[in-house]
Amino acid sequence: MEKNATIETPLDHLFRLTPNQKRALGKLHLYTIFDLLRHFPARYTDAGKVTAIQNLTKGDHATIFGKIHNLKTKKAWRKKIPMAEGTISDETGNIKAVWFHQPYIAKMAGEGGLVRVEGKVSERPPAPRATPAHAQRAGGRQAGKGEIFLSNPRIERIAEIPKDSGPLFGDGTSEVLYPVYPESRGITSNWFYHAIVKIIRSGILDTLMDTIPEEMLKKYNLPTLKTALIWIHTPQKQSHADSARKRFAFEEVFFIQLARLKERNEYAKNPSYRISIDQNIVNEFLGRFPFKMTTAQNKAISHILSDFNKEHPMSRLLEGDVGSGKTAVAATTAYAVITGKTHGAKINRLQVAIMAPTEILAQQHFDNFIQYFAYAHIPVALITGSGCKKFPSKASPRLATTISRAQLLKWVANGEIQIVIGTHALIQKAVKFQNLAYVIIDEQHRFGVNQRKILARKETLAPHLLSMTATPIPRTLSLTIYGDLDLTLLDEMPPGRKTIVTEVVTRGEEDRVYKKMREEISAGRQAYVICPRIDEPDPEKELALNAKSVNEEAKRLDRDVFPDFSIAVLHGKMKAAEREDIMRQFEHGEIEILVATSVIEVGVNVPNATIIVIEGAERFGLAQLHQLRGRVLRSTHQAYCFLFSSTEHSVMLPRLKALVTAKNGFELAEMDLKLRGAGVLSGQKQWGITDVGMEAIKNLKMVEAAREEAGRILSADPELSQYPSLKGRIGKEKHDIHFE
Ligand code: ADP
Ligand code: MG
Repeated sequence: MEKNATIETPLDHLFRLTPNQKRALGKLHLYTIFDLLRHFPARYTDAGKVTAIQNLTKGDHATIFGKIHNLKTKKAWRKKIPMAEGTISDETGNIKAVWFHQPYIAKMAGEGGLVRVEGKVSERPPAPRATPAHAQRAGGRQAGKGEIFLSNPRIERIAEIPKDSGPLFGDGTSEVLYPVYPESRGITSNWFYHAIVKIIRSGILDTLMDTIPEEMLKKYNLPTLKTALIWIHTPQKQSHADSARKRFAFEEVFFIQLARLKERNEYAKNPSYRISIDQNIVNEFLGRFPFKMTTAQNKAISHILSDFNKEHPMSRLLEGDVGSGKTAVAATTAYAVITGKTHGAKINRLQVAIMAPTEILAQQHFDNFIQYFAYAHIPVALITGSGCKKFPSKASPRLATTISRAQLLKWVANGEIQIVIGTHALIQKAVKFQNLAYVIIDEQHRFGVNQRKILARKETLAPHLLSMTATPIPRTLSLTIYGDLDLTLLDEMPPGRKTIVTEVVTRGEEDRVYKKMREEISAGRQAYVICPRIDEPDPEKELALNAKSVNEEAKRLDRDVFPDFSIAVLHGKMKAAEREDIMRQFEHGEIEILVATSVIEVGVNVPNATIIVIEGAERFGLAQLHQLRGRVLRSTHQAYCFLFSSTEHSVMLPRLKALVTAKNGFELAEMDLKLRGAGVLSGQKQWGITDVGMEAIKNLKMVEAAREEAGRILSADPELSQYPSLKGRIGKEKHDIHFE
């Protein structure tokens, strides 16, 4: 090991890396010793569970150690799939292994080498052309009538067969844990193991500063950084590995919360527009809605209005299930700002910006806001990537008109337009406001933290910030990732909503659903059919084969099922104008069945649509399915959601059934967490939390403890000057949220 290596030393200074390995490490974002030390094993194989080859039986998921020979590549006889095969033998017997589509395995494994092989034991009847004698010669063992073999097992070259690897090689009582690392093509789990062991042995861990203060480690009984690193990579027993993971899980949520709380404190220090609201004017506005606000909506509105009357900016998250009426809260509070009065120096014409993640949604808000604001003669503008609009037009006080971008920018800059709705186009540098007092971000989970802040940062006075989301996530997760926001829940649905009938439909039952669709559409309703793909799948891509595509499914429905109804398609690859046109026709009822991708997931509101059929439902995350279902939760008619499951994945069915039983999105999120575990919670990537961090999300106590500690440290030391290593770490971890 290189002298004076620090944890920042690049890996290629320490290890001789092939270009393939470099590429693989790059893909995993592993560049330095620090990165490598934090590349944790995904799991451990208990070497005590190694099976002797003679004891393998069909259906086992087994790990064996042995020598590999008879390696060859060929084409599978029927489908001409390139494959590799070989025979693995230990002192008790031998078994054949085959790798379809991975002929290179034969080369990688190396004839005669020692290997560790892990995978499923399958059985097949004697192949038509292979006589049993032939199978024997090839090293296969007869079990019943068929030959058992390992199909597509994981294989790793090893330097030696572990001494304590179980009944075969020892007494099987010692606990030897063999770490299994997330791999990437070109670099094996085994490489990681040996590289990390080398680093640990170098003594470099002694130079590490622990990022968690000592008293906290003691308080929560967590291992030090050095111990935790040793335990997670080379555990002597499972409890050490668990304890190390717990430490890293705690650490991660603690850092995220510390960073968020610090940001929050800093934002809250800014001066803002202090606005006093005329409650009579607000009441008059409320009276114009065709419905009465729910208690939850009223409460949310009054929380927000009282925040406006403070000297520092609001940072609030309005979390409400799909259809809970967030738009009305947004519109009412926006109206309050427009008509409100600032304290001190009087500022005329306060402005409100509303940002939505898609053009469809921005357009829809634009249409809604026109309705709400027309009577008060308040101009509203729309800015998206595909153009700008303004209401009212010069020619007619009742219509919107297209305007140039330059014109819009001018009117926004001089304060003439007070309400601006838009997509990302809103946060371009060129968009300058005169007095931006209030920023509303719809479906905020779609935006990065930084994007959220950009809108706010441009101004001299910090605007009040309202984020809205319908993403149902568990409480632990919202405490962590929304730690910088005050929370208001819209936990009540507008009255008169029927609960939606949700059904998981297995293959062969489709006709019953189509009959139901026919009934509903004939009664004047409309339907969505959601497909996972846009075009016919690429036949090369095996995985995609079963996923229905929007274009093909629309053709099929039109031809075979609903020739008498009008059907259209909608997806993200269409031009914005085309999409808008289709949406408009659907809103006006000219289209009866809309076959779409999940572009309609977010916020689209057509109350007359009461049926949604989701093809390949198991391909979507629960949260996404819930959002999709929300599209038909918009009216007082009975609504239906049919989840077509194209595979018989037994693991998927209970998940889909959760959609049937869960009462609301939040309950659903908790169920998802329990059912699938935190590691697969949909959207994890977009929150920037690692697998280990997600383990904390399962543990409310841990999340609350981390939050308490973060708050305690910051209130005593807002700049973290007593905690240089924490401060450094926070600077590094910009937990940005990415687009889905
Ligand atoms: P989301 O919270 O998903 O954004 P929306 O704001 O789009 O929901 O509201 C969904 C539908 O419910 C809209 O058609 C809206 O007009 C209607 N709505 C909102 N609030 C109420 C209410 N208090 N009573 C009845 N209908 C309401
Ligand atoms: Mg909405």
